[in-house]
Amino acid sequence: MRIAIYPGSFDPFTNGHLDIVDRAATLFDKIIIAIAVNSEKNTLFSLSEREDMIAEVIKNKKDVTVVSFTGLLVEFAKEVGAKTIIRGIRAVTDFEYEYAIYQMNRDLNPDLDTVFLLASKEYSFLSSTILKEVARYGQSVSEYAPPVISEALLKRFGHSA
Ligand code: ADP
Repeated sequence: MRIAIYPGSFDPFTNGHLDIVDRAATLFDKIIIAIAVNSEKNTLFSLSEREDMIAEVIKNKKDVTVVSFTGLLVEFAKEVGAKTIIRGIRAVTDFEYEYAIYQMNRDLNPDLDTVFLLASKEYSFLSSTILKEVARYGQSVSEYAPPVISEALLKRFGHSA
């Protein structure tokens, strides 16, 4: 069984992330969305909030699951039997960062490879950070994130969904 792991902060999960999941699901038997616990990042949503929201979004996708993990991605990948990491690339600005992580992960575990999917045109400028900025000022982001997430974003900033 070809298991791939899609790691990220997903704070919160956007339609861009969802697009990567759906496309990766056509290439692998099972996709594990893995929310990374990053102590250096101050997140808007707690780990369990992010996990619950993503679980709701993928509830009808039988080959996709969501988990959170601490520690090194390469270790976690080994634990769950994943041989491939999925990452998305938007503009060239993503490239350097992604390439550096890729190199490090290859050094840490040469058996684990990374597959990069280029962002679809309609999501190439979409980021969790931008959605948070827009929602902060009470604007709906329903075009850019699944309903459970766009509503949670508005509520988090004290606006009615
Ligand atoms: P991280 O903090 O690990 O960068 P993110 O949640 O921001 O986590 O992103 C997870 C992965 O999804 C990264 O590989 C990122 O480049 C990719 N990604 C984010 N937004 C998009 C998008 N709109 N289209 C395609 N890939 C995306």
